[in-house]
Amino acid sequence: MKIVLASRNPKKIGELRTLLAETLPEVEVLSLDEVGITGEIEETGATFEENALIKARAAAASGYIGVGDDSGLSVEALGGEPGVYSARFAWVKTGTDAHDDAANNRVLLSLLEGLPAERRGAAFVSTVACVFPDGRSFVVRGEVKGRILTEYHGAGGFGYDPLFYYEPYGKTLAEVTPAEKNAVSHRGKAIRAFAERLKAEIGKEPQK
Ligand code: IMP
Repeated sequence: MKIVLASRNPKKIGELRTLLAETLPEVEVLSLDEVGITGEIEETGATFEENALIKARAAAASGYIGVGDDSGLSVEALGGEPGVYSARFAWVKTGTDAHDDAANNRVLLSLLEGLPAERRGAAFVSTVACVFPDGRSFVVRGEVKGRILTEYHGAGGFGYDPLFYYEPYGKTLAEVTPAEKNAVSHRGKAIRAFAERLKAEIGKEPQK
């Protein structure tokens, strides 16, 4: 059985292949390029779920099961921002050309300036959507709760990790190993939930 991940990022494709190799060894993960889907998929959704579904539908146009994901940071004091704009937060807020993590982190820090620790609650959210060739679909979600620090800690991870303090570890997600992050992260949870749900859905199909 083949599934198509709506991505061209070799790290994302590798991550899904590794995880599914354990739970669903009969599933082969293909990239958009491998099924001849070219061009960008516009992420026009207002929520992570909508964006994940947009991507999964685009991948399902291949005729195989389509899978899409979307993730980001949601900060309580900012009413859920950066949300779906996590990757381009600095650009959305300041119009700067800089699309990098450092610029995004600087904007986040400035928006939260002066707020005490108890008002700096945040969550990383990851959604994974799956669309079957017959139109059936499901979306799963993973979340990890934390707090935005006032200073950077750690050099690991990516994105907002150096500012995201995870209480049970007593560290930011940039200060832990990839395995430690994966065990508790939004993405780890969402991908594990996806694998379980896909397994159940495949099990419902008539056996040939
Ligand atoms: P994407 O869904 O993987 O493209 O992630 C969108 C954006 O959300 C990234 O560019 C990061 O800014 C942020 N983000 C998502 N997951 C993480 C994470 O695990 N750590 C830090 N930032 C993240």
